[in-house]
Amino acid sequence: MRIGVLAIQGDVREHLGHTERAGAEAVPVRRAQDLAKTDGLIIPGGESTTIGMLMAEYRVIDAVLERTGDGHYPIYGTCAGLILMAKNVIGPSPARLGLMDIDTSRNAYGRQIASFEVALDIEVLGPEPFPAVFIRAPKIERLGADVTPLAWYRGGVVMAESGPFLVSSFHPEMSSDIRIHQYFVEKVKRVTRVAGAS
Ligand code: GLN
Repeated sequence: MRIGVLAIQGDVREHLGHTERAGAEAVPVRRAQDLAKTDGLIIPGGESTTIGMLMAEYRVIDAVLERTGDGHYPIYGTCAGLILMAKNVIGPSPARLGLMDIDTSRNAYGRQIASFEVALDIEVLGPEPFPAVFIRAPKIERLGADVTPLAWYRGGVVMAESGPFLVSSFHPEMSSDIRIHQYFVEKVKRVTRVAGAS
C-alpha cells in the first residue's frame, strides 16, 4: 500500500516519515501522473491559496477528482489541506477539491493565539491525549449530515471524517506521535480492501 503526500508546500518530509512509521510506503506527489500509483493522499498544511493555485496549474485537482469519483480514494487534509477539502470557505476561497461537506473559515483562531499546542482527547486514538499543533488554523463552522466529528477544541470540531475523507484543523506531523497517521493508514487499508472486493 502506497500513500502520496502532496509535495507543493509544508511539512512534506515529516508526513512522509510519519506515514512510513505508520506502516505504509509514502511517496511525494507533485504532478497529476504521480497519483496513479497511490492508494490515498495526504495534503499538508501551508498556505491554501498557493497550494490550491499550484494544484490547479499542475492538474492535480482534476486528477484527484477523477480518482475520488468511485469513492475509493482516501484523502487526509490537514490545516490548509482541510481548507482545500471543504465544500464551502467563508471569506476568500482558494481553488480547491471541495470534497467534504463542511464550511470553514480561515485563520479563525485570532491573532494572539495564532499558534499554539494543546493536548486533545481523541477517542478513536485511545485514552492518551494527542499533542495537536495549531498554526493560523481554520475553524470548521458547519458539518454536513454525513460528516462525523472526531475531536473538539473549545466546543468547536477540529477533526472530522466522512467516508474515505479525513480532515484536521491542526498539524499532526509536528510531534512524534504517529497515531493519526496510523488511523489514516488503517482507513486506506479498509477502503482499498472494499474497492478490491467490489
Ligand atoms: N492560514 C493558512 C490558510 O489559510 C493555513 C495555515 C496552515 O496550514 N497551517 O491557508
